[in-house]
Amino acid sequence: MAPEHVDVLIVGVGLSGIGAACHLERDAPDKSYAVLEARGAIGGTWDLFRYPGVRSDSDMFTLGYAFRPWNGAKAIADGPSIRDYIRHTAREFGVTDKIRFHSEVVSAEWSTDGARWTVTVRRTDTGESEQLTCSWLSVCSGYYRYDQGHEPRFEGSALFTDRVVHPSTGPRTSTAPASGSSSSAVAPPRSPWCRAWPPRPRT
Ligand SMILES: Cc1cc2nc3c(=O)[nH]c(=O)nc-3n(C[C@H](O)[C@H](O)[C@H](O)COP(=O)(O)OP(=O)(O)OC[C@H]3O[C@@H](n4cnc5c(N)ncnc54)[C@H](O)[C@@H]3O)c2cc1C
Repeated sequence: MAPEHVDVLIVGVGLSGIGAACHLERDAPDKSYAVLEARGAIGGTWDLFRYPGVRSDSDMFTLGYAFRPWNGAKAIADGPSIRDYIRHTAREFGVTDKIRFHSEVVSAEWSTDGARWTVTVRRTDTGESEQLTCSWLSVCSGYYRYDQGHEPRFEGSALFTDRVVHPSTGPRTSTAPASGSSSSAVAPPRSPWCRAWPPRPRT
């Protein structure tokens, strides 16, 4: 049996994937599409990161959707508010029912002859595999791994004997090895779970 074919296949239901699907609903209602998501929830970054104080560092009037402007009380918003905003947007535009959760894209092959992608999907709940084809593949999968935090090795890193905790899995950290937006957000100075926060800037 030939795999199911859709005009557009969107991968990921973070800000980008939900935004792409809403645009299709609004501007190309005649196109068939499906949305695949490896996890079991909408929100991407804003569902994964749940440490105390998680928030955006851009203003939401810029980071939010032009077609559904942010109207929250705070321009720099907390994570749960952004997650709700993405979820409500998906529901309002009729996208939620199009999402296939627990569906991880593991490969995609382009055929010039057939002018289509063949996408292999692994069900993360059952381990089963299936294939779909699409004419347009929109990869909105973010820029980091969801199954494990990034842990770069650098000279002397083995000397650090304390526990390394990633913000995506909930920090109880005493040292934040940077002073960018993430570490500033992860280790707010008055946070009750932060024993000490001596920033370690590179420059
Ligand atoms: C704490 C924090 C604060 C941030 N603040 C800002 C900010 O203020 N401004 C800014 O511009 N950016 C910010 N970012 C970056 C933020 O990740 C992006 O702005 C934005 O949320 C990314 O959305 P996205 O939809 O592209 O990807 P993501 O939110 O990463 O969503 C990707 C989705 O794709 C799914 N997925 C991944 N791989 C697969 C696969 N193979 N198959 C199926 N599904 C898959 C994931 O499960 C996830 O649901 C911040 C990041 C963090 C962690």
